[in-house]
Amino acid sequence: MANPKYKTSHSKTRRRRANIHLTMPSLTTCPNCKAPMLTHHICPSCGKYRGKTILKSEEPQEN
Ligand SMILES: [Zn+2]
Repeated sequence: MANPKYKTSHSKTRRRRANIHLTMPSLTTCPNCKAPMLTHHICPSCGKYRGKTILKSEEPQEN
């Protein structure tokens, strides 16, 4: 069975993992209401995507 010849040092492990980090999602502004929104997603503020209303504005619901 193939085995690594040398043990990976802590330094090498940590250098490799230094590049693993979270990245910010790409945000854009809605052309309708100027609110920040994710690209290729429905605007969470006005519920529109590419000029079309996908979600209607929610009214307060009573449970
Ligand atoms: Zn919007």
